[in-house]
Amino acid sequence: MAAKTTTLMDKIVSLCRRRGFIFQSSEIYGGLDSCYDYGPLGVELKRNIKEAWWKAMVREHDNIVGLDAAILMHPKVWEASGHVEGFTDPMVDCKQCKRRFRADEIEGDRCPVCGGELTEVRQFNLMFKTHMGPVEEEASVVYLRPETAQGIYVNYLNVLNSTRLKVPFGIAQIGKAFRNEITPRNFIFRTREFEQMEMQFFVKPGTDPDWFEEWRQKRMQWYLDLGIRKEKLRFHQHGEDELAHYAAAAYDIQYEFPFGWRELEGIHNRTDFDLKRHQEYSGKDMRYFDDQTRERYIPYIIETSAGADRTVLTVLSDAYEEEDLGGDVRTVLHFHPKLAPIKVGIFPLVKRDGMPELARKIEQDLRKYWMVFYDEGGAIGRRYRRQDEIGTPYCVTVDSQTLEDRTVTVRERDSMQQERVGIDRLVEYFRERLE
Ligand code: ATP
Repeated sequence: MAAKTTTLMDKIVSLCRRRGFIFQSSEIYGGLDSCYDYGPLGVELKRNIKEAWWKAMVREHDNIVGLDAAILMHPKVWEASGHVEGFTDPMVDCKQCKRRFRADEIEGDRCPVCGGELTEVRQFNLMFKTHMGPVEEEASVVYLRPETAQGIYVNYLNVLNSTRLKVPFGIAQIGKAFRNEITPRNFIFRTREFEQMEMQFFVKPGTDPDWFEEWRQKRMQWYLDLGIRKEKLRFHQHGEDELAHYAAAAYDIQYEFPFGWRELEGIHNRTDFDLKRHQEYSGKDMRYFDDQTRERYIPYIIETSAGADRTVLTVLSDAYEEEDLGGDVRTVLHFHPKLAPIKVGIFPLVKRDGMPELARKIEQDLRKYWMVFYDEGGAIGRRYRRQDEIGTPYCVTVDSQTLEDRTVTVRERDSMQQERVGIDRLVEYFRERLE
């Protein structure tokens, strides 16, 4: 089982590199541990995921707005949030082989690699520290944000005062976060630099359990709507011992990755903890005034916090298939058309008789609406396979019949079914299927 699991991840990693989804960072220098770069196809895939999230969270709600806060924030933010004091993981070192482990991830009290003796457990703060300005002194310390959430909390009053939003309302943000993880691993699953897609929903105390329930269901539905297999998704409820210091209730949405069930997104009832702390540390009144009931209160916050990179890995793992076509194996990524980096591949059957010119013309027409790809090299079967491997849902081929009746062959990725469609109808045809 273990061997098979490794192979599937290896295959995904290798396809990502070979076809330009994801590369090791600074590869020509031997790579930088746990850092990855998104290549031409990966950047499209990730962008489509982020756009689907933004549409579902911001555009489709009249009471949720967006924000893009700076990565560097006032150091007091991280005191108020509890990160300076408590954003730590327990760490042990092996005295013999010098390897470092997260104490909560190993069983027993000897090194899982060489059996050597381990050091005492120490608490290791996961925040990246740096200095602002030219002088490296204690007073100039700033942190790279370990979560995007705090950028939202410290702007809560700005958003309230600059819009006409009333509780309940939400603020959404997509952005980079940094954690100096002790044991980053599993490709882009756990890295030290990653991107979060977070939405903080501000509600009246007492209504929080209902809102929590609503967001929990909505967030699960979002993954299902992207075509992620239902049997690969589940909720994990945090028990008393797992709950973060700020949370009254928490569920993770987990996905069954090739290396097992792991967290993909967290949904938390953060109560009034964060705003209360910022009120205390900044001295600013964080209460909301309800002009209907004339009450003042600090809203409760329901947080939905997803990882963009983990969603990329989920989508890749879920879509990957090696199909046995009777002796011949077809590698295919069954991406939802909304997420596919390239929507349509366009090919002339042969490089003569005006077919390339006609295919180029179709490419230009479709490029106005979608990301398309023109390819005239090699046997048609191979060109189809190359598109299957990167998850392109449709291919259009210009052939000799096209020259007679102005129809093309449209081939669908999953069924491999082909049908003839008039060139004049192509935009409408794809609009129905891609949007
Ligand atoms: P984990 O237990 O896996 O470390 P967490 O519970 O600390 O995750 P949160 O703080 O709830 O994670 O962060 C919200 C989301 O951000 C996670 O569900 C995950 O998708 C993403 N995320 C967190 N840490 C990382 C990381 N090191 N690399 C990639 N994504 C991450």
